[in-house]
Amino acid sequence: MNQHPAALTRIPSVDEVLKTSVATDLIARFGRPAVVIAVRATLDSVRTAVRAGQIVKSGPDDVATVAGVRLDEDARPNVGPVFNLTGTVLHTNLGRAILAEAAVEAATVAMRRTLALEFDLETGKRGERDTLVRGLLCELSGAEDATIVNNNAAAVLLVLNTLSRDKDSVVSRGELIEIGGAFRMPDIMSRAGARLVEIGTTNRTHMKDYEAAVHPGTGLILKVHTSNYKIRGFTKEVPARDLVALARGRAVPLVNDLGSGTLIDLSRYGLVHEPTVAEAVAEGADIVTFSGDKLLGGPQAGFIVGRRDLVAQINQNPLKRALRVDKIRLAAVEATLRLYRDPDRLHERLPTLRLLARPKSDIADLARRLQPAVGVAVGQDFVVSVVDCSSQIGSGALPEEQIESAGIACRPVGHGGGALHSLAAALRALAIPVIGRIEDQALVLDLRCLEDETGFVNNLQALKRPGGR
Ligand SMILES: *Cc1c(COP(=O)(O)O)cnc(C)c1O
Repeated sequence: MNQHPAALTRIPSVDEVLKTSVATDLIARFGRPAVVIAVRATLDSVRTAVRAGQIVKSGPDDVATVAGVRLDEDARPNVGPVFNLTGTVLHTNLGRAILAEAAVEAATVAMRRTLALEFDLETGKRGERDTLVRGLLCELSGAEDATIVNNNAAAVLLVLNTLSRDKDSVVSRGELIEIGGAFRMPDIMSRAGARLVEIGTTNRTHMKDYEAAVHPGTGLILKVHTSNYKIRGFTKEVPARDLVALARGRAVPLVNDLGSGTLIDLSRYGLVHEPTVAEAVAEGADIVTFSGDKLLGGPQAGFIVGRRDLVAQINQNPLKRALRVDKIRLAAVEATLRLYRDPDRLHERLPTLRLLARPKSDIADLARRLQPAVGVAVGQDFVVSVVDCSSQIGSGALPEEQIESAGIACRPVGHGGGALHSLAAALRALAIPVIGRIEDQALVLDLRCLEDETGFVNNLQALKRPGGR
């Protein structure tokens, strides 16, 4: 113990470290305040190590070098890319849809330039930002009018607050959803000031339940697309189209929250049919709400389309201002929607669709090409093989729909639960983190969403093998 104080005195001061040429270079790259913080933190760890009796290099140059490593590590942006090899194409925790090039370009222009955001170029007077995408939304959905807010949760909140504040909102017990991120329909209702009137039971709701609950003073009838679960067995639900006559007869708006919502029939790309926005509008819903960054493949946004008089009321709600979208996203939304005018080329241009429709044979070829590189990177403690697996759409869309895919499985040799988790952690620690999934005691990398093959291989070179050779 008694030699530690002596060891502590050999630790340089912050100033001594800052005078080294290593630190001078760091100051040029990162700025003085950041270097001072990193040097202090490094000196703290040196002191702790010395007190613990460890022998550490603590010359001014050594400290500056370690501080440099800290600064380099810290320079990696927190909002940086990852390789999504989870097999979930629209992964909410990984940022959902990646945008089409056209959307990226439009957003970039919107960031760099001034634009006529709320300015009518014809009259030279003030305009409305929503009108920039209104026409496209109406054209693609067949609705009379349309508006846009921050996300679909905001769309639902705004619709409920506008049409049903202090009034009854009638909804089936089977549709009182909770989706990721604590969006619970009953909670949103109460925050919107709407009175929730639950009807039917979890598994069965009948027309007569709606008839008994809806009266002329009812705020709205809400249909919710049960995006992330399926009720099976002895079930009954009343489809939106069957509620139209009741809603019209009692002059109560029928609102359909589609959740993901899609603007095109996915079956033409080999996927299961998901109700489209145009179908929901054509069936007779007065208002339809849906997301921008789920199946639609755009940026985060929420769309409200439907009857002109109702959309006008919604736009006049003071909450609308608090939920509005910014110019960057508006530009990206417009560019994304424009792609839908050419459905024949949509799957080439819209990454979400391109990835969802990617043939399994392509993915399997990719897996075979990458297998050797992955094998070398993970080392001899794992058996690396090409496997069949299944991808999911994600974000609650078609929860039971499995899409045949292919990938690479890394299976530890012998008993290796720990090895599996350290491999997963090592992949997450790469310059571009690689996120797979653990399944059947193997780490599976579903390659459906991997398009940058070279980038992936280069990134993998730096893998610190969990075996530690
Ligand atoms: C996803 C979803 C929402 C919320 O949409 P966000 O765009 O994530 O805010 C609302 N309702 C349903 C049915 C959904 O599936």
